[in-house]
Amino acid sequence: MKNKKRDLIERLNSGPVICAEGFLFEIERRGYMASGQFVPMVSLEHPEALENLHRDFQHAGSDIVQAFTYNGHREKMRVINKEELLEPLNRSALKIAKKVANSPIGSEPNLMAGNISNSNIWNDKNPKSHIEVEKIFTEMIGWAVDEGADILIGETFYYAGEAYKALEVMKKTNLPCVITIAPMGENIMRDGVSIVDTCKELEQRGGDVVGMNCFRGPATMMPYLKEIRKVLKCHVAALPINFRTTKEHPTFFNLPDNNGCTCHTPHKTPFPTALDPLQCNRYEIGKFTKEAFDLGVNYLGVCCGANPMLIREVAESVGLKVPASKYREDMSTHFIYGTHKRIAKHMKDYADKA
Ligand SMILES: [Zn+2]
Repeated sequence: MKNKKRDLIERLNSGPVICAEGFLFEIERRGYMASGQFVPMVSLEHPEALENLHRDFQHAGSDIVQAFTYNGHREKMRVINKEELLEPLNRSALKIAKKVANSPIGSEPNLMAGNISNSNIWNDKNPKSHIEVEKIFTEMIGWAVDEGADILIGETFYYAGEAYKALEVMKKTNLPCVITIAPMGENIMRDGVSIVDTCKELEQRGGDVVGMNCFRGPATMMPYLKEIRKVLKCHVAALPINFRTTKEHPTFFNLPDNNGCTCHTPHKTPFPTALDPLQCNRYEIGKFTKEAFDLGVNYLGVCCGANPMLIREVAESVGLKVPASKYREDMSTHFIYGTHKRIAKHMKDYADKA
């Protein structure tokens, strides 16, 4: 079995496949990206930091190393006036992902994924924008294939039409395609197609894995996943954000902080820089993942808010043991709450006053 690399569908047919996403938030938190602007210059400016991020997620159980090209598309590079760095940024991110995927901790290499995502210029009422977006996708997919991507991921689409276009471009390569949508707070795609109908159409159009990622936490993603899993025959993906979204605020964009905050964000909303108190804990993420897996969702992960500890939780919640499992919590030796015989009685007795 050594060095044999199973393809994505083989892996999904035999069990859960874990994919870490949400690099934007995690790299920003690590100090290598400007929030708001959110351009992954890190692949050029701090390649070692990006490689470390991938290695940390790999250690925590991610089977897929997704090249960090989210927002690294021509339109965004124009916005920040660095269009000339577009191709170097993409190739560098792809090379780093490939390097990590090809040096796994176990014997089987990970899968390297090329990535395209919401362009933010797609407008269902402006056909010209569709041509522009197709160009953006085509050049990025070209570089991904060039650099040896094993699979392609199109993600975070909130227009059904843009998701269809992304899939059309990805399908031309014959690589396995994962396509996930991220409906905004109106609970419908911006071009008026329902969430479930969009997923059905994506399956019809050849998506190998279809599902949801980003914008929604476990509470507001799960109801749709249940419906999607029921009507789709292909593999389904579930990658929520790590925040406690609610029925009133289904996405993190308008999620308020009503939790005793004493120093509010200088921006209009806690998104994106003051969401910390609204995070899910690891058990909530584990519970969501287990529930999704039990429904028959095999492609699992976390998007914005993800960190290696949460990816380990995702993996362990569906019965996997990963390298980071070695460091799973062990409260038995804790100095107050431990049960070990050497824990002093006067400390154990003090537990509820600590
Ligand atoms: Zn996300």
